[in-house]
Amino acid sequence: MRAAVIPDESSGYRIEDRPVPDPDPDDVRVAVDACGVCRGDDVVVEGNPAVEYPRVPGHEIVGTVDAVGADVTEWEPGDRVGVGWHGGHCFTCDACRRGDFVLCGDKPVTGIHRDGGYAEFTLARPEALVAVPDELDSAEAAPLLCAGLTSFNALRNADAGLGDLVAVVGIGGLGHLGVAYAHEAGFETVAISRGTDKRAAAHELGADHYVDSEREDPAEALQALGGADLVLSTAPASDAVAAVVEGLGADGEVCNVGFPEESVPVNVSHLGAVRGSVSGGPSGSPCAAEETLEFGALRNVTPRVERFDLAEVGTAYRRMDDGDVRFRAVVTP
Ligand SMILES: [Zn+2]
Ligand SMILES: [Zn+2]
Repeated sequence: MRAAVIPDESSGYRIEDRPVPDPDPDDVRVAVDACGVCRGDDVVVEGNPAVEYPRVPGHEIVGTVDAVGADVTEWEPGDRVGVGWHGGHCFTCDACRRGDFVLCGDKPVTGIHRDGGYAEFTLARPEALVAVPDELDSAEAAPLLCAGLTSFNALRNADAGLGDLVAVVGIGGLGHLGVAYAHEAGFETVAISRGTDKRAAAHELGADHYVDSEREDPAEALQALGGADLVLSTAPASDAVAAVVEGLGADGEVCNVGFPEESVPVNVSHLGAVRGSVSGGPSGSPCAAEETLEFGALRNVTPRVERFDLAEVGTAYRRMDDGDVRFRAVVTP
């Protein structure tokens, strides 16, 4: 099979021919149809002590079950499935015993601790698999498994309700879906991005307001609209997060799902004045991923994607990293 491999932390992608992997007794083999390109791939591409090289990244996988190990009873060949960031869980740590599988302390991350989806075939653990509705195109379903799930979960787990003012910072892979979900949820939706390039798309996706953060202070713009009940920050930039905290209204929350490398300076006086908070949202469980896909099929909320051949995954990654993709790159083997 063809696979896009990162040989070590100082090299980029290399296309290799590899043997098709045989599933262990508790593995499922998936013939990959599509795999989305996520910023989380940087753990492998840029280097991290958690990664054993060589590694095949990719954690927004959609495909078809092709073979199952002897102990797998839940899935069978022909099932249409997805695999996201959550590559399995141990079932025995304290988090798992509470049923909080997302916080499992021994969780293999797809494409980081085990090979992911930039290949014609990949192996996955059965508890990590997600059923994919027939209505969804593979390339459009793939980004829902990380980008979609992360935004969907953060919005539905927050306190905001119908008519509340909800802002989405950063209109990229996560953010453009965040705007669409916020609109579908009945929030008064504000898209915040640098420049005007994404203004038209943001309105098409359902934004009621657009704030160009190069021309307007986002916090002042949010206060002019009454103060935000929730800000979903997808921007991996510290200044973009810091700039919205003072835009929170009473009991408002900035939930971060894009993670700057540097720390974020936060005006805690404003948090005190409005009983506000700054929080972080993880991706989500396979069950939540399935709900994201079902909602996508129900309400026709799917990402806008640019498709790349597997051999072009390095280009797709660079364009994603430059914020140049509209709005999610997807690789097909
Ligand atoms: Zn991701
Ligand atoms: Zn566990």
